[in-house]
Amino acid sequence: MTTSTYAVWGWGRADSDEPKPAELEQLAPLVRDHLGLPVQPPEQPAPLAGLPADRVSARLPAALADIASSAPMDRAAHSIGRSYRDIVRGLRGRLAHVVDAVLRPVDETQVTAVLDWCSEACIAVIPYSGGTSVVGGVEPRLRDEWSGVVSLDLGAMSGVVEVDAASRAARVRAGTPGPLLEEQLKAHAMTARFYPQSFERSTVGGWVATRAAGHFATRLTHIDDLVESVRAVTPAGLWESRRLPGSGAGPSPDRMLLGSEGSLGVVTEAWLRVQPRPTTRWAATLAASSFSEGAKAVRALMHDGLLPATCRLIDAQESRVTGTLATGQAALVLGFESYGAPIAELSARALELCRDNGLDVLEAGDRGGAGEAWRSSFVRAPYTREQLILLGVLVETFETAITWDRFDDFVAAVTDAATDALHRVCGAGTVTCRLTHVYPDGAAPYFTVMAPARRGSELAQWDEVKAAASDAVLSAGGTITHHHAVGRDHQPWYADQRPAPFAAALAAAKSAVDPAGILNPGVVATGQKALGRPG
Ligand SMILES: Cc1cc2nc3c(=O)[nH]c(=O)nc-3n(C[C@H](O)[C@H](O)[C@H](O)COP(=O)(O)OP(=O)(O)OC[C@H]3O[C@@H](n4cnc5c(N)ncnc54)[C@H](O)[C@@H]3O)c2cc1C
Repeated sequence: MTTSTYAVWGWGRADSDEPKPAELEQLAPLVRDHLGLPVQPPEQPAPLAGLPADRVSARLPAALADIASSAPMDRAAHSIGRSYRDIVRGLRGRLAHVVDAVLRPVDETQVTAVLDWCSEACIAVIPYSGGTSVVGGVEPRLRDEWSGVVSLDLGAMSGVVEVDAASRAARVRAGTPGPLLEEQLKAHAMTARFYPQSFERSTVGGWVATRAAGHFATRLTHIDDLVESVRAVTPAGLWESRRLPGSGAGPSPDRMLLGSEGSLGVVTEAWLRVQPRPTTRWAATLAASSFSEGAKAVRALMHDGLLPATCRLIDAQESRVTGTLATGQAALVLGFESYGAPIAELSARALELCRDNGLDVLEAGDRGGAGEAWRSSFVRAPYTREQLILLGVLVETFETAITWDRFDDFVAAVTDAATDALHRVCGAGTVTCRLTHVYPDGAAPYFTVMAPARRGSELAQWDEVKAAASDAVLSAGGTITHHHAVGRDHQPWYADQRPAPFAAALAAAKSAVDPAGILNPGVVATGQKALGRPG
């Protein structure tokens, strides 16, 4: 009997959510007609190939052996995230880089013990929370200067520890996944109101480490905006910032940990700003003749000081594919929420501005059909994606941000570069765009790529398209990531984007808190040890 490897590469529960061949067979013609792309017979995931020998477990001190696992499925599951290249490699059962062991600490004392022993034994440590990285953040793609590599799984350190109702803040352990966070805050009639698309699996520690962004489009976009203080264990000791509503005392110790991707310390807890649950909601769907016209309306909303919770501008093709709007127009899904303040005036003003900018209001008031179609497609996306991959569709996303003055040219240049590469490499394919987050001075365009994959060559295909898209993003003035983080995959472009003195400062900071350099070598703060493009 073949053991399912779904736990290694899948999104859902291994016992119920793995796509079945018969369902995929039925889905195939629908996908082909809907996307206008050829599909292939459903791929049968391969069993896990033999893993390289475990170099660590036999050397572990007894105290750490108690929290260690070297089961092959465990090692494999902790060696990839959930990017397209991760899923393809996972379902083929072939992973070139695998952690030697998985360590599951239950408290900070054990985290400290792991860091101490690994520093002495020259073993790299990769913090792991939800494993939803899409940038190679948890993959042990390292130089051979290490005598081993362990995955430090924070899953046992989870839950809301205390709630300060007066300050509306909650102390949360790093391994807390989104659903548990909301369930435990609900008992206090509070919410963190932070919903990345990976909400189901990703965790507070992962959000802090990657500077994740939630689903809401304005105001509190990144986790940075919710973080009041952070506590992390570093090889040089505990790094805990003070709980403060704001502080001008020098460079911020919180900010330095935010986005450090496990290279400076292991985040164990954070105080997050929380709020009452919303009591009033308003939603609208509007149509724009083009993405550019829609973007002008969005800019007008931002410049008017309106801060809609939802403000997703979706280009015509993506609107059709997601079932949001089938008219060949771009769709704008707008929403306001409040837990007290009236929103009638805000929503009326938003509609007025949109109409002034040439948009048609299709539905407004309660959540309508188009907005619901988009939301349901958003929530189902991780599951849909793995079905498409099993049917031989190359599907992946990349995201960035740019100021309004360069917006139209930027979106055109990046779309053209990615489309050219896609046609060259795959012979066909589509690149669609939506705005995930909007600001008074710019927006975050998010691109979805779909193309016929050539089985066996998917990684090379995607790497070429991704490199062309990333080159275009940087040369047109954007950032290599707005919220997906740097990881290993973005490192070459990040190296070009950041100022050289800043890179030197970051590398020096790493040397100070992690003298042996064991913490997640190759990601953001690693300086000279960074590896190149994905191998
Ligand atoms: C389908 C899908 C949808 C996504 N949607 C979004 C989205 O809407 N918004 C968004 O921002 N991102 C999104 N992502 C990317 C990903 O979910 C985020 O980067 C997320 O923050 C990762 O959290 P995690 O708990 O899974 O961390 P992991 O994947 O386990 O780790 C991510 C990185 O952080 C480090 N790390 C993890 N935990 C710690 C810790 N406690 N201390 C120090 N370092 C740590 C790891 O070493 C790694 O480098 C999506 C990914 C997928 C697959």
